[in-house]
Amino acid sequence: MENSKYILVTGGAGYIGSHTVVELVNAGFEPVILDDFRNAKSFIIENIQTILGRKIELINAACQDENNLRTIFQKYKFQGVIHFAADKAVGESVKNPLKYYDNNLSGLVSILKMMEEFKTPSLVFSSSCSVYGNPSLPEGVHGVDETIKELDPESPYANTKLICEQIVQDWIASNPNSNATLLRYFNPIGAHKSGLIGELPQGIPNNLLPYITQTAVGIRKSLTVFGNDYSTADGTCIRDYIHVTDLAVAHVKAIDWLWNQNVGTVEIFNVGTGKGSSVLEVIDIFEKTTNQKLNWEFGPRREGDVQEIFANPAKIESNFGWKAQFDVEEAILDAWNWEIKRPKDA
Ligand code: UDP
Repeated sequence: MENSKYILVTGGAGYIGSHTVVELVNAGFEPVILDDFRNAKSFIIENIQTILGRKIELINAACQDENNLRTIFQKYKFQGVIHFAADKAVGESVKNPLKYYDNNLSGLVSILKMMEEFKTPSLVFSSSCSVYGNPSLPEGVHGVDETIKELDPESPYANTKLICEQIVQDWIASNPNSNATLLRYFNPIGAHKSGLIGELPQGIPNNLLPYITQTAVGIRKSLTVFGNDYSTADGTCIRDYIHVTDLAVAHVKAIDWLWNQNVGTVEIFNVGTGKGSSVLEVIDIFEKTTNQKLNWEFGPRREGDVQEIFANPAKIESNFGWKAQFDVEEAILDAWNWEIKRPKDA
């Protein structure tokens, strides 16, 4: 079959989606963005186009609008779909689980129905390391790998990611035309080098990096570090922070890899750096690399937080020939550059 180069990117105006669109074009693909802007801003599309110096196809619609999807799938013969579009706030999912089960599951199912109807070869699904929950690793084992069987998602959001993984597995098993990767992201941070696209939290940020940068520019008074009594070296939680551009490039590699796999293949890959940083280490790096003083204080633990998780990225590195290129210092500097530049009323 001819390689069509058209890739449907659902949620392509969002944080990871927008960076992936840029890297797809850099690699010679033709992304088509599907986004209904419920959680994204339209200036991001303009800025993607400024970075690339060309227009990008945009469809303003929800994944669940199947009649509309059918028209899009008819128009472009997609080589693949990268499915980002989903709700992602862990805390909100605890308060409003039905919103998450409804949107995250139904969006995926609609996309898969179209892929089946139009025999689209490849799916890259946006999953999350939150499916692991609080992994208990055997003595001496470094980083969580994809073979761990005891998955224990801690929130409705994480449950939706695990259920979606299972939906994709079941669908691929029944479908003679497609293959798929399930990418389990660790903690994406940073922004495009241009400072034109980056993370745009709605309201008070849930994630650590936007909370830090918003505090440093004076939008927030002080960062609360959630918990100082974990069993880690400094008592704060450990995460694997990965530059969003590295994560975006992993999606391009996934599309390339799938092109060379048989139909019926479905593989899970961790996308992380393999290195953990504590909350206090992140604050320290932020202060040193940006020369800013950060107001912060300790507060109680946040419900649902896992103590320590970082990737064993060996599988993605050997299969995709991909490795994170940026360290946490550079990612934090790029997050800061974006915070300074981004429109504050967005
Ligand atoms: N965190 C924090 N204060 C904040 C936001 C996050 O101390 O205002 C901590 C959080 O407890 C976790 C780490 O930073 O240990 C990363 O949190 P984030 O929400 O960014 O990612 P996730 O918990 O989903 O891994």
